[in-house]
Amino acid sequence: MKVSVKKHQESTESQGKEFAQKENTTKELIQAKEEMRVPESIFLGIMHLLAITGLVLLFTYDKQTIIRSVCLMGFLHYLSCLGIGSGVHRLWAHRSYKASTPYRVFLMVLQSLAFQGSIFHWSRDHRLHHKFSDTDLDPHNMNKGFFFAHMGWLLVKKSQALVDEGYKIDVQDLLNDPVVSFQKKNYYKLSALICFIIPTFLSYFIVGGSLVFGFLTAGVLRYIFMLHITWCVNSVCHMFGSRPYNPDILPTENLFVSIFAGGEGWHNWHHEYPRDWRACENKWYKWNPNGWFIQTAEFLGLANTHLEKVQ
Ligand SMILES: [Zn+2]
Ligand SMILES: [Zn+2]
Repeated sequence: MKVSVKKHQESTESQGKEFAQKENTTKELIQAKEEMRVPESIFLGIMHLLAITGLVLLFTYDKQTIIRSVCLMGFLHYLSCLGIGSGVHRLWAHRSYKASTPYRVFLMVLQSLAFQGSIFHWSRDHRLHHKFSDTDLDPHNMNKGFFFAHMGWLLVKKSQALVDEGYKIDVQDLLNDPVVSFQKKNYYKLSALICFIIPTFLSYFIVGGSLVFGFLTAGVLRYIFMLHITWCVNSVCHMFGSRPYNPDILPTENLFVSIFAGGEGWHNWHHEYPRDWRACENKWYKWNPNGWFIQTAEFLGLANTHLEKVQ
């Protein structure tokens, strides 16, 4: 009898443990589900599928159309590099130079062409990235793995600690800029127009082919390519490359990323000297179109790299 009571107790205990384990697993699954940013994940998933469709469709066309389409996508890609590199990164996030209103409006338009979040949100996340580089309070902490730093961080909700730190970041200069406020208020309308509708029609009139072809190539394929190039700054440039200016930090110097991102891949220098508007050492062999663009704007009287640095 004693044996059977013991057996019964043991089996009840193990059933209890099993139940608790199941409950924990369910809780974990629910938590994992809650942490996913579902609309963003679905959007990025669909956009990637459309980009692949655009790439396949592109190669069904004749050689001349392919060349014209690649040239248009390359041109728009480099314009969006200016919007991200010279614009939201060096001007707004770091305040490494000052610029006139027409210049800021122009770069706001080019930043919208990249559709990577408004200038306000992009800058706030980036200030957090520099303040807490490669720690749990870095939005794209490299220590959580390559995929997380590359794009995984956009697919999950931010931790409460990260949200709280985001609110502590000083963004008064961004709120005071009417160009930034205008874009923030009209962000989705502006981005839909500049990132997708205008490139679609440009392709339709310049390259030829159908409107669907224009949307899938100059719109979506170019957009996804630019996203991955920008994400490479957070992933590749925190893992692969040399560290000549500070060997004790993760950011690296990476020529490959610099070529495709307009000079944003000189990341070891940039993390060491984030207020430098060049975002790289001032050497002739450092590929840096985003810096050359700022220099040209300064020559034309539209930008000033000598004024007091705010951020
Ligand atoms: Zn970085
Ligand atoms: Zn930066």
